[in-house]
Amino acid sequence: MDHGWLPDLIYTGNAFESGIAMFSGENGTITRFSRDPSDLHRATRLPNQAILPGLVNVHSHAFQRVIRGRTERRTHDRDTFWTWRASMYHAANRVSPKAMYHVARMAFCEMALSGITTVGEFHYVHHDSGGVPYSDRNLLARQILHAADEIGLRIALLRTAYVRAGWQKPADPGQARFITPRSEDFISDTEAIRPCLGPRASLGVAPHSVRAVPLDYLREVAAYARAHAFPMHMHVAEQPAEVEACIGEYGLRPVELLHRENILDRRFTAIHAIHITPQEAEYLGRSYVCACPTSERNLGDGAVPADLLYNAGAGICFGSDSNVQIDILEDARLLEYDLRMNKLERVILSDGDGLARRLFDSATVSGATSLALNTGALEPGRQADFLTVDLNDPSLAGADPGSLLDHIVVSLERTAIRNVWVDGVQIVHDGRHRLQDEIVEQFTAVQRRLW
Ligand SMILES: [Zn+2]
Repeated sequence: MDHGWLPDLIYTGNAFESGIAMFSGENGTITRFSRDPSDLHRATRLPNQAILPGLVNVHSHAFQRVIRGRTERRTHDRDTFWTWRASMYHAANRVSPKAMYHVARMAFCEMALSGITTVGEFHYVHHDSGGVPYSDRNLLARQILHAADEIGLRIALLRTAYVRAGWQKPADPGQARFITPRSEDFISDTEAIRPCLGPRASLGVAPHSVRAVPLDYLREVAAYARAHAFPMHMHVAEQPAEVEACIGEYGLRPVELLHRENILDRRFTAIHAIHITPQEAEYLGRSYVCACPTSERNLGDGAVPADLLYNAGAGICFGSDSNVQIDILEDARLLEYDLRMNKLERVILSDGDGLARRLFDSATVSGATSLALNTGALEPGRQADFLTVDLNDPSLAGADPGSLLDHIVVSLERTAIRNVWVDGVQIVHDGRHRLQDEIVEQFTAVQRRLW
């Protein structure tokens, strides 16, 4: 038996339509849209709401949720990404497997409440303190998968390879829990997690960065990803120092190196891609780029040259990264606003379909494709991952169907997200998750022990 929903409006990809119900089947995929009066009659009525596809958060490090609000006091004469990273390592080294589960539930719960239905979890804390593997080498990855399953979120686990501190850099004890020295072990660990994937979980691989993964290792991981058609994600050009080290080691900038190695294709997503040349933007035109502007502005990373990347044909998507904020639509609007501040212009990223459509597609369809998932749009055959917004929320009040997407992209507040479904199963009811109180309580207890 299928199930149907009848809101005031449904975003069908080009426009908001009224008088139409959406149906999904037992397997959680969208089966059809209908204007038939008998279908409208039996669908669940969602008054004063509009249905849109769920947001896709392509890049998260769930455990970093513990350092939110804990790194905003100056610790050096000049605080930077690198001094922040030292604080982040300090926290990463104190998170137990149980804490990892509670922290990930907190981050994923907040994601669900903000309308995110899929997360790409770039997971790199693998081992016990000192780098000693757990007897189950995927113990921490399984905490992450379990947490996503409890929330009901779709997850692409991007198992991350981390090998070294960097070119000509001595080992950093702060990174010991991340490091898997041999690519064979990384690949066999990744294979070992496959049977643990639940119905809403999938797998990808993520060589951490050209800094942290030497070239031979990177080639082996890339060949493995290609053989299994896995999405491959990698931090690229987040900070100038990473670019300089890459030039020192290889005589090439990071994107130039990836281009030479034939790594840039539609299964590859570059995370950040901030410090790139116009030529590198061209190279990235055949790949995806995940921008993380809420995190990048917090870290002082710089702004993604989104105009160059869109023009080159790159698929842009968004991630909450450090989870200092979890708001994919804020990431979307910042992509444009950072350019406005630099260029003293407006409506820079608009194409033939308009700015809001382009940014919203990036937050949904592009994100899904980056993670190789069949979600991100409301179409028959795709997974029924969707949300409703309250049309009477003050942040959207006064919008008409023709301007509603613009309102959502520039001004939606989380209070407007009412209900969220993944695979046709409702996980947020009237702005709340059923486990929310317990999750907040457990997370607060973790934080009390950590800080
Ligand atoms: Zn990241």
